[in-house]
Amino acid sequence: MSQITAEATAVDDKRPLTALDRCDSCGAQAYIRVMIGESELLFCAHHGRRHQEKLAQVATGWHDESARLAESHNV
Ligand SMILES: [Zn+2]
Repeated sequence: MSQITAEATAVDDKRPLTALDRCDSCGAQAYIRVMIGESELLFCAHHGRRHQEKLAQVATGWHDESARLAESHNV
């Protein structure tokens, strides 16, 4: 189930997600970008996880910055 992260690290050099990137499902700040061919989807950590299983079957890249959420808890 977690194979996607290992495969997707190759495309992790894409631009980082910013506060302007919003979840396609709820509009919260996006922490996960999913590439599917030429197009990309943005998700917050919550929806990224929720859709991960289905998206992993079609995704060509996976950029996950949700680890930054845990760090920001210290602020
Ligand atoms: Zn969301």
